[in-house]
Amino acid sequence: MSVAEAAEATMAAARVAAPTGTARLTLAGSPDLATHLATFGPLPVRAGPAVLLGELRASGLEGRGGAAFPAWRKLAALPARERARGRRAVVVGNAAEGEPQSFKDATLLRVAPHLVIDGLLTVAAAVDAHTVHLYARSSVLESVSRALAERRDARSIQLREAADGFIAGEASAVVSALAGRSPVPQDRTVRLTESGLGGRPTLLNNVETLAHIALISRFGAAWFRSIGTPSDPGTRLITVGSDGKPSTVLEIAGGSRLGDVLRFAGIDPGSLSAVLVGGYHGAWLPASALEARLDRQDLAVFGAAPGAGILMGLDARHCPLTLAAAIATYLAGESAGRCGPCVNGLPAMAAVLGRLARGDQDPALAAEVRRLAGLVAGRGSCNHPDGTARFVLSTLTVFAEDVAAHQTGRCKKDHS
Ligand code: SF4
Repeated sequence: MSVAEAAEATMAAARVAAPTGTARLTLAGSPDLATHLATFGPLPVRAGPAVLLGELRASGLEGRGGAAFPAWRKLAALPARERARGRRAVVVGNAAEGEPQSFKDATLLRVAPHLVIDGLLTVAAAVDAHTVHLYARSSVLESVSRALAERRDARSIQLREAADGFIAGEASAVVSALAGRSPVPQDRTVRLTESGLGGRPTLLNNVETLAHIALISRFGAAWFRSIGTPSDPGTRLITVGSDGKPSTVLEIAGGSRLGDVLRFAGIDPGSLSAVLVGGYHGAWLPASALEARLDRQDLAVFGAAPGAGILMGLDARHCPLTLAAAIATYLAGESAGRCGPCVNGLPAMAAVLGRLARGDQDPALAAEVRRLAGLVAGRGSCNHPDGTARFVLSTLTVFAEDVAAHQTGRCKKDHS
């Protein structure tokens, strides 16, 4: 960018007002570059990595891919000494979104691809990246390609098709896929930020995180915090549905109450017995807890977290154990099949939960599910066994009455 172009870009950015409502990422309403620029203005002239790091730290932005790692900390983790040694970093935007209940990242790439591209370019400039990849599902490749073709400053971004599968979005699985290997988690003793793709320091961010970075670099940390709660500032995208209603993607203020989010999505909280928060690696909250806020503080009481932004209600007429057993069986089939907990533990746990769901009245079944969950947790190379165990244990806790009804043959709920 020339000096004149930079000055014009800065003036244009100053002419565009910061978004004031809850619609931020979704404000433009059309994915084309002209609408994007008219809505948000161009990226401001880059003020240097230290300024971006400071703004991200002050903003409190946490990763939106599930792990909720502070965005600034990830950026700061790239060792400067590696650049001094000539090992420039690889930057990856991750939209693999393997969780079946989630399609927020795909939706974001369809409605606001230029915000994600802006975020990638911002981070890539901050770390003086060697290579930039956008790893996305096949369903959005066409719309992202169209957006990339609209601009000259994005030619460095390489668009790569993401593999299918629940664990394909895990950071080391993404790097493995980009390297042309199997898209499964790798047993790592060295951090990706030290040695990732091609042995280079690798910085991988969820695409929603990148879109927030694009807005924070324009409008600042104080603006980001002007909505949401202190422990969950800003907005977040969330996929909301129930086992009786198709899912929809909403942009909500951080810390919104679960009941309000469900109503906003057209789901009557009174029709539910519980809500699964955080997807298949998440935890259940009973219907009596729907006043809780969707932030880490409120959800921690239930062993839950916003995760990758998924809310799935369970219709009170439906048997929770039947659904939970189906999910546990799915998860057991989605492992890379390499570590002991996944090869032996998850299938056994799913099988025992399945017996409980089908009405086997052996009184030892619930205890056996708990025992197996305790055996698999913390023993895999990735967190797949831990997440699956968390979901199963939460099922036994929140649906204790249903477990008792199954063990005495009194369950009258719909098992289809
Ligand atoms: S814990 Fe399971 S999913 Fe994770 S790497 Fe090992 S076998 Fe694969």
